[in-house]
Amino acid sequence: MKPLKMVDLELEQRFLGPAIEKGIFEVLRHTQFIRGPEVAKFAQALSDYLSPPGEKVHVIPCANGTDALQLALMALGIGPGDEVIVPAFTYVSTAEVARLLGVGVRWVDVSPSHFNLLPEALEAAYTPRVKAIVPVHLFGQAAPMEPILEFARQKGLYVVEDVAQALGASYYTPQGPRKLGTLGDIGCTSFFPSKNLGCYGDGGAVFTRNAELAEKITRIANHGQSTLYEFVDIGVNSRLDSLQAAILLAKLPYLDEMNARRRAAGDYYDARLKHLSDLITPERVSWGDHIFHQYTLRVQRGQRDALRAHLQAAHIPAMVYYPRPLHLQPAYQSPEYPAGSFPNAEKLAGEVLSLPMHPFLQEEQLDYITTAIEHFFG
Ligand SMILES: *Cc1c(COP(=O)(O)O)cnc(C)c1O
Repeated sequence: MKPLKMVDLELEQRFLGPAIEKGIFEVLRHTQFIRGPEVAKFAQALSDYLSPPGEKVHVIPCANGTDALQLALMALGIGPGDEVIVPAFTYVSTAEVARLLGVGVRWVDVSPSHFNLLPEALEAAYTPRVKAIVPVHLFGQAAPMEPILEFARQKGLYVVEDVAQALGASYYTPQGPRKLGTLGDIGCTSFFPSKNLGCYGDGGAVFTRNAELAEKITRIANHGQSTLYEFVDIGVNSRLDSLQAAILLAKLPYLDEMNARRRAAGDYYDARLKHLSDLITPERVSWGDHIFHQYTLRVQRGQRDALRAHLQAAHIPAMVYYPRPLHLQPAYQSPEYPAGSFPNAEKLAGEVLSLPMHPFLQEEQLDYITTAIEHFFG
């Protein structure tokens, strides 16, 4: 059996290698490493992939997912004195960019079963300074967008979706499924190598249906430049390079197939682990599909770390995403949010365990992992 990894990019290269190498060598030949033709081509291809029939979603590539979030807030004019609502249980980027821009963070608790922001907690987080809600579609599954969008409509707030872990997943609307990242005002994603659509370095993108906003985001990502040496906004330098765009162009046509393979691995884990009484398998929500960026268990009765050690002894990697909620992190803590403020997020930090998850998990590997877990629980 091939040694297990959380994410196995070697196996990906066995499958997609020739297409990826062809793209890379084309860039080496034309040497336009910045703003080469691959960048616009990829933006168009991702726009075609995301756009619902009869609509256009603009895609602005950028340097990474964290920059995508920063560009979104900058383009919406959110700055000092403003606040944004962010889930307490997620990766740091969402809160980090807000604070870098002098924007206050209002935390909200998450669901203990699907890990996403709880819409019923929005009212308590709201203040008149709040300008936007930033829901994160955590682990590959949609946040409950309808009540979030409804709350935003009532209060006149922007919605910026963090889709870094769920690119290709959908939200079920009455008009049919819609790709995550295209429901709010702006969507932000990352192409970090381990994401569902990853490049071989850093990369990210911002999406919006609003053409004016798209133009502004494009400008801000390019030093606030309108025409050559005409700087109309304070901007940043945030680019996806041509090599990364070429790699993404080769991989994008396979995204749905890769996500389906992840889902099959998720189904296998569910079938083998659901009956274990000390484990809670991840909820599949009714309002969208799950593309399993992570397969995240909740381990009950304080056994998480012991299970992780047991797996490690069997050479099975398992990760804790995330060990501490953001409101209790040294850099983000404040007297306003003492321990106990967000019981679900705080409980999850002690219970969650993510198993190896990528599109090329073999049945032999899945059997080995789940058998080791069964043995742990006797
Ligand atoms: C990965 C990730 C990011 C940041 O992406 P980078 O490309 O690493 O900057 C932001 N939000 C979430 C939820 C992520 O998983």
